[in-house]
Amino acid sequence: MTSNESERAPSGKAAIPPSPPLPSGLLLIDGQLAPPLQPGRMIDALDPSTGRRITQFPACSCADVDRAVMAAQRCFESRAWRMMRPLDRGRLLERLALLVEKHREELAALESLDSGKLLAVTRAIDLQFTIDGLRHYAGWASKIAGDYVSHSPLVPEDAVYRAYTQRRPLGVVGGITPWNFPLGQAIQKIAPAIAFGCTVVLKPSPETSLTTLRLGELIVEAGFPAGSVNIVTGDGMEIGAALVGHPAVRKIAFTGSTATGQSILAASVATMKRVTLELGGKSPTIILADADLDRAIPGAAAAIFANSGQICTAGSRLLVEAPIYDRVVEGVCEIARGLKIGSAFDPATQMGPLISAQHRDRVDGIVENGLAEGAVALAGGGAVDGGGWFYKPTVLGGVSAQMSVMREEIFGPVVCAVRVEDPGDIVRMANDTPFGLAASIWTRDLDRAHLLAERIDAGTVWLNTHNVLDLTMPFGGHKLSGLGHEFGGDAMQAFTEPKAVCMRLDPGSMRY
Ligand code: NAD
Repeated sequence: MTSNESERAPSGKAAIPPSPPLPSGLLLIDGQLAPPLQPGRMIDALDPSTGRRITQFPACSCADVDRAVMAAQRCFESRAWRMMRPLDRGRLLERLALLVEKHREELAALESLDSGKLLAVTRAIDLQFTIDGLRHYAGWASKIAGDYVSHSPLVPEDAVYRAYTQRRPLGVVGGITPWNFPLGQAIQKIAPAIAFGCTVVLKPSPETSLTTLRLGELIVEAGFPAGSVNIVTGDGMEIGAALVGHPAVRKIAFTGSTATGQSILAASVATMKRVTLELGGKSPTIILADADLDRAIPGAAAAIFANSGQICTAGSRLLVEAPIYDRVVEGVCEIARGLKIGSAFDPATQMGPLISAQHRDRVDGIVENGLAEGAVALAGGGAVDGGGWFYKPTVLGGVSAQMSVMREEIFGPVVCAVRVEDPGDIVRMANDTPFGLAASIWTRDLDRAHLLAERIDAGTVWLNTHNVLDLTMPFGGHKLSGLGHEFGGDAMQAFTEPKAVCMRLDPGSMRY
């Protein structure tokens, strides 16, 4: 570890968090804000910047999941829902977008309080993504289309057949979300479900349920039909698993860790549920010798330190061509040492806390393991003393491909730097991971950029940038990073399925 890096206590100690209105702590079931069936079982919502309790919310039982799913099914099968004009489903989402916009500041503060994300980030990114997502899918509701099919049935020559396909909504969707982008993730499940004619039961992460519960209140205010959106809170192993196991749930839209995604996939076999799994990553940031280092060095640092590394697409493996390796790694270390760590509400803070003490200890355990295996902490390499769950921005050198720090998703501000001696090895090194979520390539050479992008086994490749997501681009992972895609038109495939309709026409009625 180098000497001048921030050993200091986090600046968050001094920052006074605002007091946004807290959600009522009621679930959303069948159009009503309601307490759980067994009151009394509560979960603490904790502020990661201080470790203090913000409030409590219900730990639901499986009976709550059942009544939420049954409400969603009743709504889905109701004539009113079936007959609702797609434009009017879009209008529901638009009304919710307006309400989120109206309560933007309050929601941003609540999100930062509950997750430790910097207030500037929740304002500019999480809330904007949420509002944009609602509007994006509001537009999709009226653009669902099948095909007219020119087919060649094996039938008598004089018979006349015609065929078309429809995209039909799947039914009740179980949405399960992680804690790193709570509101944005909730919208990523709710908005396409409604736009494409499904109904939904959403279970947020128990680490960050507050903004989703508040969203439930706004959904009631927006006038969504009873049962179209339901929100239950609780532990994944109990409530999440109950949602996955429920026979009336037709699809699980999951974002979270690969381990949980695998258990959901296995549990979905019995009822043949459709699943989309947006999972973890170990994404490479690849810096070629000709890159513009004034952009690439801060870009590589932001790729891993943004949101304290708690981004599925974080650039956690830094692959740098040998001629510029020392300069790039020293540059990233310098940024790491200078980052101001602190409370989400201190405007000077550049990196906030990790989500929980348990997660901070897990990150620290993986780093410790790496150091024991021979890695070297070039910057950071440990937790920050004091209140809150802060971890030093960490750059590890001396790593090899088989070390756990190189293979496991750490989901913290920890990057492994690797020198690429032979340019011919870049593709192999970039793809030497069980994950395949994203990658970035930094170069001025257009030919190399595009040819390399083709060879990287990942759902998204960025050129001279990192972590830029847009609802118009399909998003999903290769290998252990997931199954299926979300966003835009790909979400239509994920929330509907084709139905083929074939008809025989009476040729006698053909007079022309
Ligand atoms: P997690 O897998 O621990 O939990 C995610 C959600 O699943 C939570 O709501 C949790 O309560 C629930 N859950 C846990 N066990 C369950 C079970 N057996 N059945 C059903 N539900 C269960 O993930 P996390 O720690 O909350 O989030 C971090 C992970 O999410 C990282 O791996 C990150 O890469 C991933 N992530 C992926 C994307 C993406 O789009 N690919 C985006 C954000 C986060």
